[in-house]
Amino acid sequence: MRLKEKTALITGSAQGIGRAIADVFASEGAQLIISDINLGLAQKAADEIKAKYLVETIAVACNVAKLEDCEALIKSSLDKFSKIDILVNNAGITKDNLVLRMSESEWDAVITVNLKGVFNCIKTVSRAMLKQRQGRIINIASVVGQMGNAGQVNYSASKGGVIAVTKTCAREFASRNILVNAIAPGFIRTAMTDKLSKEQKDMMISSIPLVRFGEVLDIAKAALFFASDDSSYITGHVLAVNGGMYM
Ligand code: NAP
Repeated sequence: MRLKEKTALITGSAQGIGRAIADVFASEGAQLIISDINLGLAQKAADEIKAKYLVETIAVACNVAKLEDCEALIKSSLDKFSKIDILVNNAGITKDNLVLRMSESEWDAVITVNLKGVFNCIKTVSRAMLKQRQGRIINIASVVGQMGNAGQVNYSASKGGVIAVTKTCAREFASRNILVNAIAPGFIRTAMTDKLSKEQKDMMISSIPLVRFGEVLDIAKAALFFASDDSSYITGHVLAVNGGMYM
């Protein structure tokens, strides 16, 4: 049990990668705050995980783009568990378009959820973690934040920003034993990638040396590494989990 007595807060964890991280953390004994913009789905995930792994869970609605939602999320989490050991900034969206066609609202929506959302959650959790003098923050970035991707100027900028936030916060918090790392997934099978056409998927797979999409469990295992004592001398790192598509 690598996370026994630890409390983990995972944003956007009602489904997809966030849900897989929640399952893996619970299987290692963590108590969980399942947070998502959709409370119904978050509550369902929290109930299922509690029943399966016999750990305490709560579900809290939070739109990470809104600072006041994040403040309320941290307050509810501390009211219930008195501490937050691990924050996983996972919530994210896409609104793809070529630069020439991208609307201001598509740009703003993705930057606000994916980048400002990470800032909002780190800012609001930092007071508690600094007081505790320990903590782990794991940011879910993306391979396209490292290599760029045609049609995703908003998304790649947001994820490149998440990598910069990771390194800056790692420097700011290191003296208080708060480690900040990022995971940069390649293409992972979730609702986010299900909406791609067969042609788009085939083209992507041809650029991946392991010749397949990754699974949510691949990312969840990397998150467990950063959440556990196995990574206690690692901070400011960006771990590529991408089947070799960007080296
Ligand atoms: P997903 O299946 O769409 O799950 C994301 C979850 O976040 C959904 O439950 C979604 O709710 C929720 N969410 C959306 N906007 C939110 C907001 N403003 N506040 C709180 N929650 C919000 O996506 P995923 O594929 O698991 O992606 C998870 C993370 O991995 C994202 O940061 C994504 O950018 C990153 N990532 C994914 C891939 C991939 O190939 N799948 C690759 C690289 C990086 P609704 O569905 O109700 O909107």
